[in-house]
Amino acid sequence: MKNWSGNVTFDAALVVRPTNIEDLKSAITAAENVRALGSVHSFNKIADCKDLLLSFEHFPKDIEIDVAGAQVRVAAGVRYGELAIALNEVGFALPNMGSLPHITVVGATSTGTHGSGLRNQNLSAAVCAIELITSTGDDLSISGDELKAARVGLGALGIIHHVTLKIVPAFEVAQSIYLDLPFENLINHFEGVMGAGYSVSAFTTWGELLVDQIWVKSRIDIDTLPGDELFSANLAKQKSHPLPGASTESATEQMGVVGPWHERLPHFKLDFTPSFGDELQSEYFVDFKDARAALQAVHALRHQIQPLLLVTELRTIAADDNWLSEAYGRNSLAIHFTWKPDVPGVTAFLPTIEAALAPFKARPHWGKLFTDNGFDFYELYPQFKSWATYRAGLDPDRKFVNELLGTWGI
Ligand SMILES: Cc1cc2nc3c(=O)[nH]c(=O)nc-3n(C[C@H](O)[C@H](O)[C@H](O)COP(=O)(O)OP(=O)(O)OC[C@H]3O[C@@H](n4cnc5c(N)ncnc54)[C@H](O)[C@@H]3O)c2cc1C
Repeated sequence: MKNWSGNVTFDAALVVRPTNIEDLKSAITAAENVRALGSVHSFNKIADCKDLLLSFEHFPKDIEIDVAGAQVRVAAGVRYGELAIALNEVGFALPNMGSLPHITVVGATSTGTHGSGLRNQNLSAAVCAIELITSTGDDLSISGDELKAARVGLGALGIIHHVTLKIVPAFEVAQSIYLDLPFENLINHFEGVMGAGYSVSAFTTWGELLVDQIWVKSRIDIDTLPGDELFSANLAKQKSHPLPGASTESATEQMGVVGPWHERLPHFKLDFTPSFGDELQSEYFVDFKDARAALQAVHALRHQIQPLLLVTELRTIAADDNWLSEAYGRNSLAIHFTWKPDVPGVTAFLPTIEAALAPFKARPHWGKLFTDNGFDFYELYPQFKSWATYRAGLDPDRKFVNELLGTWGI
């Protein structure tokens, strides 16, 4: 069994697909080492283990909307795209979405998955309750302050069968793409570019002078729509794909056509392959106040980056107080790399990028590729030690810890 990208082959001896909570509990108590699978979109071995993998493919896909309380209770296995359609039908929305609707809510929130927007926290910030099964097969419901430890849990606290999310009234979004922003203008007008809409992504192939595309997603109810020019980048007259030359069929509607939030906030449609397909990904989060310096440090490496790169995406994430959120305690810029599927080449190059971003205390995305043993997470995350203690309290025998987490000091 492989992950979405095909770069990870799972080592686990067995995959079990429970159809109810009792079967889930029996499987957990009988196994020595257990992890859960979402939609296997992560690029590293975070979801793997040596013994038992639990898949929620056959688990009931509960989506229970509490209209009065503005919350939704969602089962593990439900994908963002499925949840979004159900919410929109009754006039509700999620505050934000990632670039693709194909990922599961539980898998994505467990790794601190994010969209973009100076006002938007990462997706796990919407979690207001977690229901899981512990290593001893017991039920545990987590709410209130304890969620700071549990929202981004890396799958290491227990096997989650439901989460509850805060929801907001549905809204409409128009997506416009701007082409060829001089790199200098991005640096000089960084807040203006990244704040041009509710959710903004800048795509670059690190050319000498140009940022290839700026995707601006504007909320019709609260944003001023951008005009024909954005800091000298020109409004695209044709549909675009983030990856130069790729078919635009899979991309969500653009050119300012107003539509529902869930058909504009992701870059890709649910029924198409997102991104390129044959690719690897890495992403590093720096403090927004260091954005310019960090971008210049990466730009200086462009001649080494370009032979390995398909495209870079730049996004912003508002600070939160979830202990393992990559945006913990700081408004952040996320510098993302979609790489060609060259595992040895990318693996050999990552330490160079990581060294360039180390002065900015860059935090890697938990679900993407970075150098094992390359980061001191106790230093990068002020609450990492508290989280490790919390995890050990729930699972002293390390039933839910895998080899990769071990290399991260867990
Ligand atoms: C094409 C593409 C585009 C992407 N775009 C974005 C993006 O826009 N923003 C971003 O931040 N990331 C992005 N990612 C990364 C992706 O969001 C994360 O890797 C995310 O974790 C994938 O979710 P998943 O459902 O596939 O989870 P998996 O990869 O299957 O699992 C992730 C983790 O969650 C745990 N987990 C899953 N289910 C459970 C459960 N029931 N109980 C306990 N633990 C569980 C797993 O054990 C694992 O540790 C992208 C990935 C791809 C392939």
